[in-house]
Amino acid sequence: MQATAWIDVVHPEADTSLVFAFEELIVDSVRVDKKHVVFEQTETALTVHLDGGQTEQISQQTRSQFEITYHGKTQLGYEAATHDGHPVYFTDTWPNRGRGWLPGIHHPADPATFGLLLHVPLGYEAVAAGELVGCDTLDSTVQYEWRLNEPVPTYTFAFAVADFSTIIDTTGATPIWYAMLASDVERVTQLSRTPTAFRFFEERIGPYPYAEYGSVQVPIGYAGMENATAVFLQADLFHRNAAEETQVHELAHQWFGNDVVIADWNELWLSEGFATYLTTLFYEHIDGSDAARQRWVEMASVSTIQARLRDPLVPDAGRPPGDYLSWVPYNKGASVLHLLRMKVGDEAFFRSLRTIYEQHKSVPLTTPAVQTHFEAIAGVDLASFFSFWMYGTTLPQLSTKWNRSTGTLTWTIQDDDGTLDDIPFELAVQQGADVRYVNVRDGALMLNKGATPIVQPVGVMMHVRSE
Ligand SMILES: [Zn+2]
Repeated sequence: MQATAWIDVVHPEADTSLVFAFEELIVDSVRVDKKHVVFEQTETALTVHLDGGQTEQISQQTRSQFEITYHGKTQLGYEAATHDGHPVYFTDTWPNRGRGWLPGIHHPADPATFGLLLHVPLGYEAVAAGELVGCDTLDSTVQYEWRLNEPVPTYTFAFAVADFSTIIDTTGATPIWYAMLASDVERVTQLSRTPTAFRFFEERIGPYPYAEYGSVQVPIGYAGMENATAVFLQADLFHRNAAEETQVHELAHQWFGNDVVIADWNELWLSEGFATYLTTLFYEHIDGSDAARQRWVEMASVSTIQARLRDPLVPDAGRPPGDYLSWVPYNKGASVLHLLRMKVGDEAFFRSLRTIYEQHKSVPLTTPAVQTHFEAIAGVDLASFFSFWMYGTTLPQLSTKWNRSTGTLTWTIQDDDGTLDDIPFELAVQQGADVRYVNVRDGALMLNKGATPIVQPVGVMMHVRSE
């Protein structure tokens, strides 16, 4: 590839040099405000010197434009694959693999606007993050141009090139499009409830932050990626009739993760836990409370985080970003949001969610800020709740006792540091094909004598021990 990156930088402090994460490609030249400057490239970084005689030291809060020209071949953050025998090229940038094709800071708390000019051979279609503002056929290529004027994390910058067929739904105020690989175009019907999810999130959280929303079917190695305005959905999901849930999850990220960014990698649950819980809220809305309860049981099952049982929801900062990826920020994060909802009630919960969204559109989100908003809106002290559930390394235990001869099920909870005392969550009690939901405070339940019941907490992550 051959590329030029224009990067507008606002210098947070007086700089004599600036370091960009950048790998695999070879830098040919760097200009700052149109003047050539001295640069050094190592295997992982590009250092641009601003005090080498050509350019004065740049003072605090000034803006400058870096123009970096580079070339080469990269396999970092960029994939060449096939689907049904046809080539598909796409970016794969989370968490900071964008450094394989774009010099940058690549940290979630340093979001940026995005513009892309791409030349694609005739016969291919291209899609990307942002709004398509130009598409011109030249001799042997098509030149596409996209602009995204709202800042987003660089890991949500994306493009894909393949034999796409794009279906556009313009019935709502915001266009919604689906780029499907040509052989699978009819499977787009699996995404028919996308506009419903879109409207649901707008009502629950706030107006959608971008000019359009699109999803792109690509053969990626995981379920989906929340690229801004152009999410990726794994091609195989469409072959298992399972694309909708991932679509809803990636759509929810447009509010939490993309528009509201997280302050550091160790706060990943503020993006993944929010998207996971918001997805279950959509199913509660559309499929009813029993379907949602079943999702909350699965979401809170300890088995999903077994290998990382002792990881706190918010671990210490400073590790490589990939280290924070596990089911803990997703499932324990979503489960903690469900607990917060039950603790403060629906009205305060949804008002807090909307307030957090509004107030953090330009201020990266932290766990202490979430605590502050919930405390202010609900008028409760959440210090011990946050200390146990966000920073603690243990989970409570639910112990159940089944008396077969009398048909009596009893239960108790230990090791919750009192954090569950005032939370009226439910237990799902399954006996044979029959499932009933009971308030945890009841403490006992009469059932049919015989089959041993299976007891699972609804939306609360805890160990379960049956006697
Ligand atoms: Zn996600």
